[in-house]
Amino acid sequence: EILMKYISTRDNKKTYNFVDTFLNGLAHDGGLYIPKKIPRLSKFTLKRLSKLNYNDLAYEIIKIYTGNAFSKNELKKIIKNSYKEFDSDNVVKFSKVKKFNLIELYHGPTLAFKDIAMQVIGNMYETILSKSKNRINLVTATSGDTGAAAIDAVKNKKNLRIFVLHPKGKVSITQRKLMTTVNSKNVFNIAVKGTFDDCQTLVKSMFNDHHFRRSINMSGVNSINWARIVVQVVYYFYSHFRLSEKNKKSVFSVPTGNFGDVYAGYIATKMGLPISKLIIATNENDLLYKFLRNGIYRPSKVKFSISPSMDIQVASNFERLISSYYNNNSKKISALMKQLSSKGFYKIDKKILRKIKNIFYSKSINADNTKKTIKMVYKYNNKILDPHSSVGFRALEDYYLNHSKKSENLFCLETAHPAKFAETIYKILRRNPNIPSMISKNLKKKEFCNVLPNNLNKIKNYIRSNRLH
Ligand SMILES: *Cc1c(COP(=O)(O)O)cnc(C)c1O
Repeated sequence: EILMKYISTRDNKKTYNFVDTFLNGLAHDGGLYIPKKIPRLSKFTLKRLSKLNYNDLAYEIIKIYTGNAFSKNELKKIIKNSYKEFDSDNVVKFSKVKKFNLIELYHGPTLAFKDIAMQVIGNMYETILSKSKNRINLVTATSGDTGAAAIDAVKNKKNLRIFVLHPKGKVSITQRKLMTTVNSKNVFNIAVKGTFDDCQTLVKSMFNDHHFRRSINMSGVNSINWARIVVQVVYYFYSHFRLSEKNKKSVFSVPTGNFGDVYAGYIATKMGLPISKLIIATNENDLLYKFLRNGIYRPSKVKFSISPSMDIQVASNFERLISSYYNNNSKKISALMKQLSSKGFYKIDKKILRKIKNIFYSKSINADNTKKTIKMVYKYNNKILDPHSSVGFRALEDYYLNHSKKSENLFCLETAHPAKFAETIYKILRRNPNIPSMISKNLKKKEFCNVLPNNLNKIKNYIRSNRLH
């Protein structure tokens, strides 16, 4: 067995192992870590994997990427502990509306799909740190769900602290409370007077300040962390294995912001899972929809929507996809990224765009259609979609009506529980979604949070004075 090696999207010469990529998060050259080569699984292997339960499948897929970072028992234990609190024996649940299969990814402790990867990451940190006697400080930006998932995953763990930056007033009440009501000595919430992109820029600046990064032994759990991608690959396999009809390929519609989740679907495709389309479902922040039309990646100002976890104009993981289509040519990627920061956009070759469109489809869904879809699905079978999942559902319907080859398995990822966006749901349906009992009592607790300006130095100082030494 050959151990997985990683490179940076901006330097394909230097190689790293899993633990390096895991603890660093972002490469020192500003690029993202990617595997040097993604293994393609044989038909025989796929058949064997198709019979496994969720945890065993997760073990088989994750171990390909973690190399010798964990022993067999360690990794099995990490997975088992990560999912033991989930409100489902096999992590996810399925439901069906019309022809569309919904993958409920929100049965974890903070009611969004991000728990699925974050719980594993929390346990990976604990395992790695207890062996190395390292102590680290995690710094992460959140549009609402990452922060809660990360905090739950690392609260009360030894040898690490977490600092979570969220845009003040721009996350839902439930999202905020899931973060701020956690009373743990290693958790620090920072409400930044700015947008999510501001928070993300602050975190990136801290990562790119090598002196600061070293001085606090900084690590990150944003969707740029390769481990998150890997753990998310699992449910694409699992869903296809459980629900695909004979020999049909699968289509997955993915509510998209930072391009982490749908990129995990792309990795599943590269590994040989028969996927015919990945749908990049976006809200009014439609830069990826536009990209698929003209090959130009041009972030603009964030538009605030009713699906706030996707109010993102910098789809960080997209660099990984572009790198893959340019065969990990890091000179090319560095040039494109330089152009992005100097001119505000980059354009890719027509030939490459055509290839990307073979597998990706995109649709941007506005607020009006997001609401209509929530109403329609509720009327149809009493199921309440959260606004993010509604964007995915509507995009899947659009694809099915206009482009489907008819003989495909149709999947929509449900990325959050509707209770997380109760205010929005109430305005649309005039009723409140049920709040799962496992969180309702926590939401009444005292909140812990510091408000800080959108100012790099002030935030650095705050982190410096509260860090774990
Ligand atoms: C984070 C999030 C998304 C977007 O996922 P990405 O991996 O950033 O594309 C979609 N829906 C919900 C509910 C989220 O929390």
